[in-house]
Amino acid sequence: KPQSADIVVIGAGGAGMSAAIEAAQNGATNVVILEKMPITGGNTVRATGGLNASETKYQKRDGIEDSNELFYEDTMKGGKNLNDPELVKTLVENSAQAVDWVNSIGGDLSVVGQFGGASVKRIHRPSDTSAVGPMLVKTFNAKLDKLGIPVLLETRATRIIADKDGRITGVEAEDENGIFVIGTKAVVLATGGFSANSQMVAEYAPQLKGFITTNHVGATGDGIEMALELGAGLKDIEQIQTHPTVNPDTATMYTEGVRGNGAILVNDDGKRFVNELDTRDVVSAAIMAQPKGESWLVFDTAVRESLSAIEKYINEGIIVEADSIKELAQKTGINEANLVATMEKYAQMQAAGQDSEFGRKSMEVPLSKPPYFAGLAKPAVHHTMGGVKINKETQVLKEDGSVIPGFFAAGEVTGGVHGANRLGGNAVTDIVVFGRIAGDSANKYVLDNG
Ligand code: ADP
Repeated sequence: KPQSADIVVIGAGGAGMSAAIEAAQNGATNVVILEKMPITGGNTVRATGGLNASETKYQKRDGIEDSNELFYEDTMKGGKNLNDPELVKTLVENSAQAVDWVNSIGGDLSVVGQFGGASVKRIHRPSDTSAVGPMLVKTFNAKLDKLGIPVLLETRATRIIADKDGRITGVEAEDENGIFVIGTKAVVLATGGFSANSQMVAEYAPQLKGFITTNHVGATGDGIEMALELGAGLKDIEQIQTHPTVNPDTATMYTEGVRGNGAILVNDDGKRFVNELDTRDVVSAAIMAQPKGESWLVFDTAVRESLSAIEKYINEGIIVEADSIKELAQKTGINEANLVATMEKYAQMQAAGQDSEFGRKSMEVPLSKPPYFAGLAKPAVHHTMGGVKINKETQVLKEDGSVIPGFFAAGEVTGGVHGANRLGGNAVTDIVVFGRIAGDSANKYVLDNG
């Protein structure tokens, strides 16, 4: 256990590991990472989309015409223009380099695809079947090992210490042996978001009270609290991304495509209660208003055959299958008579082309092709867009815009990059781009203040 370090990185997710690696690549020799969980990876390991980047060599190879300006516009539009323009500019301008950097340390982001909210193919993924998160975490772990950067697992940072002038002097942490302090001039806060802290979520966004989460249990917002104690400002803290249909046992998100391709939502009483294609917030609130705050996503074989994602859910064992609607009701515990009536009525409305109950615009199929399927679905908190206020060098800022010397932050713990809504593929860009900048900035700070 080191008594002191040049740079202490708090959190071994994508942002923290990128920061530590970048600092070491720039010459820092005494970097340590604290991680409260028994493994590295945080939420990053759950990322399945990819890394959005513009003007990359892979886009050029594929003849995709993209620009940093277009990536900027898409991101601002996706974030409803609440984003910090400086941070978004920094994000896009460093995105191509982020792809090259990941590849240079042994990763693989060489396939480019299309994703929601992007005007062109921009999301970069591994060339094999591995998901982006596990690939990144494996790559980072190996690189940290090679660089000899210690990651202290099951070690939770509890407080960041500053002197009377507000300069960082150390980090207090706790492991199985108790509390200890590591002296340091520079801290990179990379603790991730607070989606798994239901109390904090409800405090900043009361309408999300009682929501479950898709996040790992460590996403509890410790970093926000430690930063607040040092007088850090917050940006867009109430901006929280949710998903209306998540399986409560596995935290699997049923893609919106299931409803888009025809599925309906019914409650335990076997009744529909909302236009299933309404916006995420409306559908989420409607589900929360049902008994137990839960609903069933019900669909037939026609929907199943239209969407490959459904095979994944079936293989995961989270979908109930039955040859008849009656049997589906028996297996799920949904009210049998009501479910039969609901399905009959829906088929009639579908044939007539009008949802006289909830005004659903598109009813793709009559939901009458057996076997039938149902998956338990609840709304869940997915990503916290807001967080600690930073500038484009990742210096943590007070509410008045002044810096806290030696204090840097990157990744989901920060606010401003995503505005009111994060586009798929932008979280991974965020952690690599700003993680690297944080490592670089912290290293420079230590050199300048040595
Ligand atoms: P990001 O995507 O911003 O890198 P992640 O969720 O992937 O965020 O990673 C954040 C990491 O920080 C997680 O592994 C989490 O367990 C860790 N962490 C959170 N709070 C603390 C803390 N108080 N001390 C040490 N590690 C922490």
